[in-house]
Amino acid sequence: MKTIGLIGGMSWESTATYYRLLNEFVKARLGGLHSAKIVLVNVDFHEVEGPMQSGDWDRVGKALAQAARQVQAGGAQCLLLCTNTMHRVAPAIEAAVAGMPFLHIAEPTARALKQAGHTRVGLLGTRPTMEQAFYRDYLASRGIEPLVPPPKDRELVHRVIFEELCLGVVTKASRAEFRRVMADLAANGAQAIVLGCTEISLLVGAVDSQLPLVDTTELHARAAVDWALRAD
Ligand code: GLU
Repeated sequence: MKTIGLIGGMSWESTATYYRLLNEFVKARLGGLHSAKIVLVNVDFHEVEGPMQSGDWDRVGKALAQAARQVQAGGAQCLLLCTNTMHRVAPAIEAAVAGMPFLHIAEPTARALKQAGHTRVGLLGTRPTMEQAFYRDYLASRGIEPLVPPPKDRELVHRVIFEELCLGVVTKASRAEFRRVMADLAANGAQAIVLGCTEISLLVGAVDSQLPLVDTTELHARAAVDWALRAD
C-alpha cells in the first residue's frame, strides 16, 4: 500500500470526513485491522481564507505550495488537496512537488458523471468554484456542462458553506434552502447535482434531492485509495 498525502484543514470538518473515508475504504478492500497510510498537513484555514475571499490567489498558492512540500517531506507518495475551491491554485501546488502525482478532485468527479451518462449537471460550491473557469472548464473539457444557481442563490450557498458548514453548524433552514436550490437546478435541466464543496455532504444527502448527488469528497477519497492499492 502506498502512502496518501493530504493538504487539509479547509475546513477541518471535511478533512475529518476524508480521514474517516480513507480508512473505511482501505478496511473494506483489505479487511481486518488494515487502515490507510496517510500523511496529513492541516493548514490554519484562517490564514488562507482571507486571501482567498479577497482574490489574492498568489498568496494562497504560496501557502499551499509550502504545505505540499511538507506533505512530500513527510513521505507521502501522492497528493490530495481536500477542498474544491483551492484547486484554483493547483498549478502552483503541482509545481512545488514536481514528479509527485497530484490527484485532482474534479477528475474522479468527471469520470463518475461520464460513467453515469450525465452531461448537464448542477454545480454547488463556493462562489469561486461555481463562477470561475478553473472548475467549470475542467468539467467542460470532459464533455460536462455545469449549471449553477442564479446569483442570489450562489451567494446563499457560499454563505452557508463559510458561516455554517465550515464551522460544523448544520441547520434545518439551510437544508431546506439547499433542497429548493437543487430542485430549481433539476427544473432547469440538470441530470445530477455535483456537491462541489467538501462540506456539503454534511448538510444534504440522497433524500434531499430528486436527482442523483455526486459527492466530490467521497469520489476523491475513493480515487486515492484505488491509487494507493494499485499494484505497480
Ligand atoms: N471545502 C470547501 C471546498 O471544497 C470550501 C472551503 C475552501 O475554500 O477551501 O471548496
